[in-house]
Amino acid sequence: MSSFALATYKEVSGPRAGLVLDGQLLDLETVHRAAGRPLGTGTGAPMTVDALLAAWPEVERPVARLAARGAEMLSAGRVKPVPRGGSRLLAPLRPRRIFCAAANYREHAQEMGSALAAKSQSKPYFFLKLPENVIGPGAPVMIPPESAQVDWEVELGVVIGRRGRRIRAARALDYVAGYTIVNDVSARDCNVRSDYPFKFDWFHGKCFETFAPVGPWLVPRSCIADPQKLRMQLAVNDEVMQDSDTGKMIFDIREQIEYLSCILTLEPGDLIATGTPTGVGMARGIFLKPGATMTAEIEGLGTLTTPVSAERVLDGAPRLTVRPRT
Ligand code: MG
Repeated sequence: MSSFALATYKEVSGPRAGLVLDGQLLDLETVHRAAGRPLGTGTGAPMTVDALLAAWPEVERPVARLAARGAEMLSAGRVKPVPRGGSRLLAPLRPRRIFCAAANYREHAQEMGSALAAKSQSKPYFFLKLPENVIGPGAPVMIPPESAQVDWEVELGVVIGRRGRRIRAARALDYVAGYTIVNDVSARDCNVRSDYPFKFDWFHGKCFETFAPVGPWLVPRSCIADPQKLRMQLAVNDEVMQDSDTGKMIFDIREQIEYLSCILTLEPGDLIATGTPTGVGMARGIFLKPGATMTAEIEGLGTLTTPVSAERVLDGAPRLTVRPRT
């Protein structure tokens, strides 16, 4: 099957669903109308990526057919790409929930000083981010005044497209709609506590505004031959910091889905950030500064570019006290 992606882009009228073909962005509804083939969601909902995900088992194949038809019409000049000037990409979806795997690449756990049990004696470890943390391609991560140690983490994002509870690992990919890139931005100094018996403070370290860049688009599962064989990289400015592949996960995508779905029902639109490989700034004592640009890439999923700015805080506004992490 030829490759395509689903994007969300902003027009003056509001967010719209896009079809990405050969690096070109087409308006999905325009292609749909030109093709004259109803998607048959039967929901009457507007055609957004979130609405498509909500009906994914019914629309997965029609969307793929529409993409193939769109490619033919594009090469025949019957539909035109969206002009780049007046529109910009947003995060491809507004996730329902964001489950984030911690210490899921052995070399990353080592660089963070985390001693892990043998896999046979262990299970995945998850924390949560919030839908409100999500920003799209090109939108800036804001460094809050609380942190001097804001760090990057490129991760394969897995988007759920089918509801399921206690899903067997062997069938888990049947529940996946597609894949995207997540940058699990982290304030390392806020993520540890010594004033409580709880060693880590995941909410404080991971959930600042703008700390979840997602994008540039969503690539359907059918377009990725093996999601455990994708090269992944992250550069800060021109320096490559992370360069690994998704085959190095300790708990793979299937095992993560089985684990999460034993705790609760996974729903369409849930996003799993599957962990980051080695190469974060904490291990080298370097952190993000305003003016920097992060470029995250995963094979077959595009490039997610994120500039870095400082959060502007009014004089006299409250701010939290944080001690540097050593
Ligand atoms: Mg992470």
